[in-house]
Parts: sequence; C-alpha cells; structure tokens
Amino acid sequence: MIYDMLLLRFGEFTLKGKNRTRFEKAVLTQVHQLLKPYPGASIKREYGRLYIDLGGEPYQELIQILKKVFGIASVSPVKMTPPELDAIIAAAVAFVGEYAPREGTTFKVNARRVWKEFPHSSQEMNHLVGSPILRQFGTLKVNVREPDLELRVEIRQQAAYIFGEVIPAVGGFPLGTNGKAMMLLSGGIDSPVAAWTSMRRGLEVECVHFYSFPFTSQRAKEKVIELAQVLADSAGTMKLHLVPFTEVQTSFTRTNQDSLIITFMRRAMLRIATMLAEREKALAIVTGDSLGQVASQTLPSMNVIGKATTLPLLRPLVMMDKNEIIEIAKTIGTYDLSILPYEDCCTLFVPKSPTTNPNPWIVEKVEASLRELPELIRQAVENTETMTLTAGEKHHFSEEVINEEWF
Ligand code: ATP
Ligand code: MG
Repeated sequence: MIYDMLLLRFGEFTLKGKNRTRFEKAVLTQVHQLLKPYPGASIKREYGRLYIDLGGEPYQELIQILKKVFGIASVSPVKMTPPELDAIIAAAVAFVGEYAPREGTTFKVNARRVWKEFPHSSQEMNHLVGSPILRQFGTLKVNVREPDLELRVEIRQQAAYIFGEVIPAVGGFPLGTNGKAMMLLSGGIDSPVAAWTSMRRGLEVECVHFYSFPFTSQRAKEKVIELAQVLADSAGTMKLHLVPFTEVQTSFTRTNQDSLIITFMRRAMLRIATMLAEREKALAIVTGDSLGQVASQTLPSMNVIGKATTLPLLRPLVMMDKNEIIEIAKTIGTYDLSILPYEDCCTLFVPKSPTTNPNPWIVEKVEASLRELPELIRQAVENTETMTLTAGEKHHFSEEVINEEWF
C-alpha cells in the first residue's frame, strides 16, 4: 500500500459559519467511534481539514466505513512525501501506478506551492511532475479541462501531499446536529429510508413502532427490531419504542365507519407519537409517506391526518418515486429486510375501499363519540416498551421458525 493518509472533506455544513466547530466536532466524535477497531489509525486536524493517518490499517476498509459517515462529503487517499522534488516525483509516479490507469485515461497534474521557499513554482511543478508520469505510463493522455484523474500535489513546509481520487461519501449534516424527531417506523420499504434521509440531515431520530398482538406476529415485531438495528449501525445507538396498539385499533372497528378506519388509526398514531415526543423532548414527527402512494397518502388524507398533531410532520419521501426510494433502501441495506413478508397493523381490518378524501368534520365527530379513546391512547403510551440498540449488535431470532411462517 502506498497511501499514508485519508483526506476527509466536509459536506455542505461548512457554509454555516458559527456552527462549523460544533459540526466538525460531531463528525470527529463519530469517526473516532467508528475507527476504534483500527488502533493504528489516528485522526489529525490540519489546515481546516480532517486527515486519518492510516498507521498501516487497510485503507479500502476504512474508506468503506468513512463513506457512510453523515457530514463527510468525500474521501481521498493521500500519499505523503518529504517536500523535495525527487521524492515528490517518485511518489507521484507510484501514486498513478496504484490508481492503475486504463488505456486512454486522461489526467493532469495540479500542483500548489503553499510553502513559498520551495524552489519550483506551482506551474513549473505541473510539468516537472507530469512529464515523468507520461513517460512511465504510455496509456495516459493529458486533458487539462476534464481529466479522469486530477493529480493534486500540495507542497507545504512539513510535507508534500499527493492525492487524486475523490470518492463520494454520503454528505449531509453530522448526526444529531439538527435536533431530534420521532420516526414512525413500520416494517415497509419507505419508513427506514425516511429515517436514514432524516439522519443524514443531522436529525437524531427515535423510532416508534405500533404493533397489534395477536393480529400482528412476534415476527413482524422482530423484523422492525432488525430494521432499527440497521439504523443503529449508522447512528451508533437507536431507541425503539414499541407501542401496543391493539386496544386503540379495535376501538375504531366499533364505529362502523370502515372507510375511515385508516384515517383514525393514523391520527391515533400521531397522537401517541406526539406524547412520546414530549416525553423524549423531540420537536417533530417523521413518516415514510409519499404523495399519492396509497389512500392515506393523498393530499386530502394527509391534511386530515396531519391535523392530529401540532408538531411539524416531516415527510422526507413525499415527492419521491417508489423506484428512487427502493434504490436508497438497497444502498443503506434495509431493502432485503423490508421485502420480507409481514403483517402491519394497518393492513389488518383494512376496508375494501379506504377513503382518499376523508371528511374532517365526520372524522372529528366520530372520534369524539369514542369516549374511551383518550384513555386507550394514554394506556398505549404507558405500556410502551423502549429498547436501546447499539451499533454492531446482533439479534438472534429463531431463524427456522421465522422462515416457516414467512414463506
Ligand atoms: P412503509 O413502507 O414505510 O410501511 P407504506 O407505503 O407501507 O410505507 P403506509 O403503510 O401507508 O405506507 O404507512 C405510511 C407511514 O405511516 C409509514 O411510512 C410509517 O411512517 C407510518 N406507519 C405505518 N404503519 C406503522 C406502524 N405499524 N408503526 C409505525 N409507523 C407506521
Ligand atoms: Mg407500511
């Protein structure tokens, strides 16, 4: 391996003046946490940048990990040399060799002399470094406008830094730097993606899942635990609130308003989530709603459902197509879990024709007639169990039984 360091570039939060330090610290803490299994690696802050000194640790593995850190926009492997011409040329040639250019790969050298006592100007260095590379690698072609590989050579007094590849990372804001929200997590494809995109915006999320024993199985609950675990693996830790929803849900079946049942259930979920949010000091609720996807996600439905909470309702997927959502689910590693068959409490008692246009006046009137509803909601909150999942945890559910019931 020829690389000595990894250069990490921050995401868009660098624009945010005063908060910068706070954001940088949050990234630093997370990188520190994730690099614990690699004791050779150490973090350095220099010239307003973050470097990982590899200390012999496998750089590809580290890149795979760092790419997923919220707030990091890109990663570049770096070769360090003494700030001397011969050493720089030798290192640059080796660097290009490691990059293994293919036939027709275009490149340019982009040298920057920061240390003014270095005897060659930036311009001279472009040629002094570029020529031996071209001699060594006959397949390379120079392209100064849009090269495949832009070899950057930064000459400072302590050392020269050579880097080229810019590997895109997830970007966004460091975890938890934009407050906390309650995430309504079902076992479907959408809500885990909504959770992850929220986390990438710097939101800390706590998951809330509603289950209806005995109508939904233990397996369905375990599946949600596994999904929350995937999120915990990115977040470090993740709280999961499991809300017993059977009583609340069955109370709605007594209203004889079949087409409105989903509307009632969604509103009850929001009420419960709002109470949990108060308890946990969260300032918003996130859902996996996507406009028009199902009856409860039409605009009139969202309107009536949303009135059940005064907290901001964040719907990160609202304007996304299912295909785009599936793509993200695959990259964040939730898709394969999400497509396992399961029963959601909302798919039970589902009417043949759920309304796409609930009447807010009727909804409120029927809810008011359910005298026991506020008490059932209170009990659901009281009987909520909370788990705290930590990154890397494994859950051992009885695999064979799961498969038998699922397939
Ligand atoms: P998903 O793939 O997230 O399940 P979906 O397309 O199946 O979404 P719905 O079942 O209508 O959509 O649910 C819409 C949103 O309501 C979900 O994205 C989720 O935020 C929330 N939700 C649904 N069921 C539950 C549940 N059992 N527990 C917690 N939240 C839920
Ligand atoms: Mg669902």
